[in-house]
Amino acid sequence: MPGDYRSRYCVGFAGAVLEPEPPYRFLNHSCRPNCEFVEWEIQNEDEGAEVEKIYELWVHALRDIQKGEELTIDYAWDWQSAIPCQCGAPDCRGWICKMDELEICRRQRGAPASYREDADRES
Ligand SMILES: [Zn+2]
Repeated sequence: MPGDYRSRYCVGFAGAVLEPEPPYRFLNHSCRPNCEFVEWEIQNEDEGAEVEKIYELWVHALRDIQKGEELTIDYAWDWQSAIPCQCGAPDCRGWICKMDELEICRRQRGAPASYREDADRES
């Protein structure tokens, strides 16, 4: 939910607010990311232990990554929290926003100054 984040590095995930430690807090957004977060749900099945679900968050590469290349993910924020994007991808959406909320973001907030209308047609 917008406004519930404790720092600029917080990530909303699986209904929780996470405070990522380095190096994860340094993953920048890109509209064409080279990584994604993957959630793993693990059940603690130790004998005699109370069953509890443990969540792990992994960074998964979406393609081969060159040495020295910046790691990026799609922040996919709610449209209410979206900020203008300057990721530089040829198909930059103009807003750091969930894909399925991009149209409502554009209707409600317009086009950011850095957004190029022709970006939708490029790929
Ligand atoms: Zn972008």
